[in-house]
Formats: sequence, structure tokens, C-alpha cells
Amino acid sequence: MNIHEYQAKALLRSYGAPVSEGRVVLKAEDAKTAAGALDGPLWVVKAQIHAGGRGKGSFVEADAGEKGGVRLAKSVEEAAEEAKKMLGRTLVTHQTGPAGKQVNRIYIEDGSDIERELYLAFLVDRVTSRVSIVASTEGGMDIEEVAASTPEKILSFSIDPATGYMPFHGRRVAFALGLTGGQVKQCVQLLDKLYRAFVEKDMEMLEINPLIVMPDGNLKLLDAKLGFDGNAVYRHPDVSELRDTTEEDPKELEASKYDLNYIALDGEIGCMVNGAGLAMATMDIIKLYGAEPANFLDVGGGATKEKVTEAFKIITSDPNVKGILVNIFGGIMRCDIIAEGVIAAVKEVGLQVPLVVRLEGTNVEKGKEIISTSGLNVIAADNLSDGAEKIVKAVKG
Ligand code: GDP
Ligand code: MG
Repeated sequence: MNIHEYQAKALLRSYGAPVSEGRVVLKAEDAKTAAGALDGPLWVVKAQIHAGGRGKGSFVEADAGEKGGVRLAKSVEEAAEEAKKMLGRTLVTHQTGPAGKQVNRIYIEDGSDIERELYLAFLVDRVTSRVSIVASTEGGMDIEEVAASTPEKILSFSIDPATGYMPFHGRRVAFALGLTGGQVKQCVQLLDKLYRAFVEKDMEMLEINPLIVMPDGNLKLLDAKLGFDGNAVYRHPDVSELRDTTEEDPKELEASKYDLNYIALDGEIGCMVNGAGLAMATMDIIKLYGAEPANFLDVGGGATKEKVTEAFKIITSDPNVKGILVNIFGGIMRCDIIAEGVIAAVKEVGLQVPLVVRLEGTNVEKGKEIISTSGLNVIAADNLSDGAEKIVKAVKG
């Protein structure tokens, strides 16, 4: 689960991390009061969306030469103007995809003077199963780009959970970032706070890009991106309160209501599968036969007829879906129940695209019979590769 920059900064501030003063604006008429509450002489007006690269992004239907989603202003009036110009519009960045994201919140911040922009991140490294620190002198840039062109400028190492964060970790980062004197101590203390926040709040990712050195030598977090482990959010009511469902894929949101594990993808074959492993294998085999999956969907071991119907509705609501492959192994669940669910769903939501059904396991004969006598245009498949081949052929000809 992700949160907005202004929420991330408030959370990290509560751990003692240095961030600027700021005000969030939801309605254009509040922009001036918000900007007026800050000292100036520089204001930063920032579009709040769950995606990075806002500064270099551009608005849909932008005027020639119009700036991106992070704008500097020299007066309260100018800051309020910039906020009004961005609210309600759609911002496209390299992380939003071509459709972009609508800007419904603006953060107006007290501007900082920058001497250097650095990069700092914490993440869970799956290889070592530990929290890793990533630091680079190349802040304000895309870290993927830095990793590709100048990997030697990135320091990365993991922290032993038995000791947790130790001051030497912070010193190692400080020296790699070229910090000197009192900045080293500041860095050591800052990382301690960030590590504590990361572990206590069950974060998956914490990215500060840029972490800045100001002309007075002090450090500050100029941007903050936090991601939380969705399976642990229930332990943190304060974090779950920050969820902004307007930032999430509506299909994924709908799926979460019915306890379906659904992830939207960009392909053309909708998949309905039980079990995460089988769902992964189904996606792989669709690719093997030359098409792309439109989603990952695990309806779970104990899916009911209602759940299957909801899953079907979600798949068919995706305009990119040109064909559907249902691949169910009836273990705990019986194939006839699944077949009934599929038929009920097709009858309820209609079927505009080819549908291939592959059933295996308990009561498979009964399940196949229900499908073949349903009178619906459903293509039966005998095994996984047969199913994938048939749906790809039905879609691609
Ligand atoms: P992102 O583009 O979504 O990553 O948004 P950031 O918050 O990282 O802002 C993008 C860039 O705007 C930063 O790398 C800075 O160069 C600039 N910027 C952001 N805040 C300030 C500020 O307070 N003062 C100045 N001078 N520049 C800023
Ligand atoms: Mg940034």
C-alpha cells in the first residue's frame, strides 16, 4: 500500500526526520490560505499522486512550455495560482503509464535552498531477506538510470536483523555520500530514525529522492515515498487511515472487497484460476503460446459460486480483455461447483469474448457435462497447454 508524499513526510516527521513545513490543499479556494500559512520567500507547489517523476512529468492538454507537477513560486499569490492550475488535471509521468493520474490533492511546501541532491532508500531485499540501504550521490535523478549508466555511484548493503541498525551503517552511508563534519552525525541519526520507522510500520520501501544538503550544511528530506506491506497494514490503523482508494485500480479495489487476489496487467487474455501457483503457471503458458495475460487472479481454494461470478465480472469489465481462460483444479473445491459458477456468471454478465474452460480434479466429468450442456459458447480444454493454445488461437486467429 502506498501513501502520498505529504502523508509520508508527516509520518517521518513524527520520528524526528527533518522535513519542510507544508499544507495540503484539496479545494482551489483553500490554496491561498495554505500558501499564506508558510513563511516564504520560496514556495513549492507539488501535485500529490501515487507516482514519482512528477517534476519531469507533464499535464494532459498542457499549454506550450507549461511546467510539470512540481513548481516553484515566489509569492503566496503565485503559489495559489499554480495550485489552482494543477488541481483536477491529469499528470503523466514515467511511472503513471500513458493514461496518467488525476491530481486531487496539492501539497504546498516552504521552499528550501539546495546545495546537493542525494539519494537514499530502504527496501526489503528478497535475496538476503533483510532490510537494505541504497544510497547515491546522484539524487534528484531516476535511480534506475543511475544504476544502468553509473552503477559505481550506488552504495547498497543489507542490515543484519540480529543487530538492527548500527551507527557504523550510517557512517558508511555518510562517507559514500561525501558528507563531512557534523553532517556525518546528522546522517547517522537520520538513518536511525528512518530505520525505526521502516521496521515499526512494516514498510516495504522508503525512498528519499532527493535528500538534500542545504547551504547551511543541514540535511533535509525533500521528497518521500513510502510503501507498506499490504498484509501487515491491519496492524497499523494509523497507516491504513492514509489509504487513498482513488489512487488504486478500481478493478483491484473491487476484487479486494470479495477477497479475490487480483492484479491488473496489460495483456489481452483474462485469467481465472484457483491457487497462486497455478495462476502463475497459467500466465507463463499464455506467454509461451504468444499472448499476454490481462491479469493475475487467484479465486482461492474455497471459492463459492458468488465469488466466481464476481471474479468474472471484474475480468469482463476490463476493455483490454479479448478472451478468457478459466483454469481450475478442483481439490477442496469440486469442478461441478466451479462449472455452475462459470455458467451463472456468463448468464449474468454476458459474454462478448471467447471463453476457454479447463477443469481437472474432483467431479471433473460432472463439471465438463454442465459446461457442454449449458448451450453457451464455451470451449472446453483437456489440459493446461491445450487450454492456453485454444484461447490464444481464439483471440489471435
Ligand atoms: P518528483 O519529481 O516526483 O520526484 O518530485 P520531487 O519532490 O523529488 O521534486 C522534483 C525536484 O524539484 C527535486 O529534485 C528538486 O530539484 C525540485 N524541488 C523540490 N522541492 C524543492 C525546494 O524546496 N526547493 C528547490 N529549490 N527545488 C525543489
Ligand atoms: Mg523525487
